[in-house]
Amino acid sequence: MPEGDTVWRSCRRLDDVLAGRVLTRCELRVPQLATTDLTGVAVRAVVSRGKHQLFRFANGYTLHTHFRMEGTWRTFERGRAWSGGQEFQIRAVLATAEHDAVGYRLPVVELLPTAEEDTVVGHLGPDLLGPDWDLDEAVRRVTAQPERTIGEALLDQRNLAGIGTLYRSELLFLQGLHPRTPVRQVPDLRRVLQRGQQLLHANRWRTQQSTTGDLRQGRSHYVFERPGKPCRRCRTPILTEEFGPRGQERRSYWCPRCQPLR
Ligand SMILES: [Zn+2]
Repeated sequence: MPEGDTVWRSCRRLDDVLAGRVLTRCELRVPQLATTDLTGVAVRAVVSRGKHQLFRFANGYTLHTHFRMEGTWRTFERGRAWSGGQEFQIRAVLATAEHDAVGYRLPVVELLPTAEEDTVVGHLGPDLLGPDWDLDEAVRRVTAQPERTIGEALLDQRNLAGIGTLYRSELLFLQGLHPRTPVRQVPDLRRVLQRGQQLLHANRWRTQQSTTGDLRQGRSHYVFERPGKPCRRCRTPILTEEFGPRGQERRSYWCPRCQPLR
């Protein structure tokens, strides 16, 4: 599951190669947009909002895409071979005179008036990497459901936008919180959310995300995807389980000693 910092970096790259340029090729390979052609239209900007991608065009429309679990956007210099998946996995192609941007395995591809972007991203909480990051508002939203587990609250993009399963697990380890701790029992929620923002911010330019400060393979995380391995602090084996609302269960990792259930 891509995290907010991955989406942010992807949109920065897309903005670098597309913004201010005119599309020389446009293919949206989803049934409802099969006849839509934006060739000749200029791209104004590509921005991220939480884990959503918004491509704003000079004709007043926005292309909205989302990675969900497996999607990705890749950019290639003109003439370079595309590498991001199989041909049948391509959902969108946006090309300029110099670059190709290719969207693979995108479960969400839709076009809407730019003025109506709120209909697809308006529900999101403060964006951890947005220019309008608002810690107070994020705290207010999370606190509004005090009985909920902090693990679920952090993943709910309506509370704050950008945290996925990696940062959830790592952030809770750093704060010594069991993932099932009810929000009302979290000692300093404000600090938890602030630290989450710092983690994403510190990693926003990196392709290898690290929460330990160590970028070496196999050393970049404390608990994420390390079930059964010794905790880096206390050597206790890391535990894992899936939990969350029915149908949206997500895997969590924690150290039972460093993160006791209060
Ligand atoms: Zn431990």
